[in-house]
Amino acid sequence: MPTFVIVGASLAGAKAAETLREEGFDGEIVLLGTEPDLPYERPPLSKGYLLGNDERDSFIVHPADWYAEQAVDLRTGVTVTRIDRAGSAISTADGDTVPYDKLLLTTGASPRRLNFPGSDRDEVLYLRTASDSDRLRAAFQGSPRVAVAGAGWIGLETTAAARTYGCEVTVLEPQPGALTEQLGPELGAVFADLHRAHGVNFRFGERAAEFRPGMVITSSGAEVPADLLVVGIGAAPNDQLATAAGLDVENGVVADADLRTSDENIFVAGDVANWFNPLLGRRVRVEHWANALNGGPAAARSMLGQPVVYDPVPYFYSDQYDLGMECAGLPSPGTYDQVAFRGDRASGEFIAFWLSRGIVTAGMNVNVWDVNDDIQSLIRSAHQVDLSRLTNPAIPLPDL
Ligand SMILES: Cc1cc2nc3c(=O)[nH]c(=O)nc-3n(C[C@H](O)[C@H](O)[C@H](O)COP(=O)(O)OP(=O)(O)OC[C@H]3O[C@@H](n4cnc5c(N)ncnc54)[C@H](O)[C@@H]3O)c2cc1C
Repeated sequence: MPTFVIVGASLAGAKAAETLREEGFDGEIVLLGTEPDLPYERPPLSKGYLLGNDERDSFIVHPADWYAEQAVDLRTGVTVTRIDRAGSAISTADGDTVPYDKLLLTTGASPRRLNFPGSDRDEVLYLRTASDSDRLRAAFQGSPRVAVAGAGWIGLETTAAARTYGCEVTVLEPQPGALTEQLGPELGAVFADLHRAHGVNFRFGERAAEFRPGMVITSSGAEVPADLLVVGIGAAPNDQLATAAGLDVENGVVADADLRTSDENIFVAGDVANWFNPLLGRRVRVEHWANALNGGPAAARSMLGQPVVYDPVPYFYSDQYDLGMECAGLPSPGTYDQVAFRGDRASGEFIAFWLSRGIVTAGMNVNVWDVNDDIQSLIRSAHQVDLSRLTNPAIPLPDL
């Protein structure tokens, strides 16, 4: 009976295990993960769970008994330390060896860390795991003064939570605006304005350079009062195992459109995968929930020898205060030459489109619902659109 081993017990890994069983695989499945918890989804860690509204059980991928029922050998609290490709086996930190016929890497990503005087103090916090979120939640209870390093998604969602707890918040961001790399300046400004309207202070063009009890010193030498520094400066792929095993690695584990790596028996999915997306015509590494949700199952089908072309329109969502949004595509600067709006930005309910030579390459619906599938179809169709029709809310998106 073949053994399929999955390294990384989070959303991508647990969904891959589910798909293997759904597709009729009756060999052994071993799912190993460093964290002590059942596989869980991370988005609530910076939203409902951080705010104390969501229970921990509400965002586990499967309940505990599912793994036993499905004969998935889930081993939590276990770190894989080596892939022995010649011997087709992995080794764990506690000295076990597990042989595999096929191996899936879903090791995700880890927060980039700051390194400066005071950065190792307990008041400097990161957010990736449920226990990180527990720590932040406890810290926010006393309404401390908070500095946030990084105006990306994690930084801004944490800022919204901190403000909801009544904390005074200053965000330090070396770029000239919020979410610049993720959305470009036009939509980044919408989010910065939203936070300013909730009393957040931004210091653009500045980074955190030192932490002392009660203050952050910025790169310009300014002193920002802060009892806590929350760091959200991006994440790096956990690709060290793959590198050590001699797989092709370049900002994540390199894979083809079927999520197969440079070793035909090793597959990859989720945040750690840098795979060729045929829709975009290039390799991408996407740190989004939907990519773990759908990439894990796609990799599982590929492990089973099914023909797989994994070509999703990247999808992301965020909730901050009373703004909820979904974004399809990857609207980073350099990928578009125009931004168009459908609906009134000031009303807080609109759709933004990013276009390149008249073709919609990305779209974001803000407090407008049940349209993201249509936006994804528009992106996938890659046809030139009439701008006056695109920006006219009376014209249904499928008619464009
Ligand atoms: C706070 C937060 C909020 C987010 N909010 C959103 C959101 O609103 N919308 C959105 O689209 N996306 C969001 N994301 C991103 C989304 O959660 C990730 O894209 C998703 O978790 C990726 O899943 P994954 O399974 O690929 O990897 P991960 O969730 O990173 O899991 C990888 C797992 O592998 C384990 N592991 C690593 N190395 C080893 C090893 N050697 N041995 C054993 N185990 C190992 C890790 O401990 C981890 O448990 C958020 C992320 C965070 C952190």
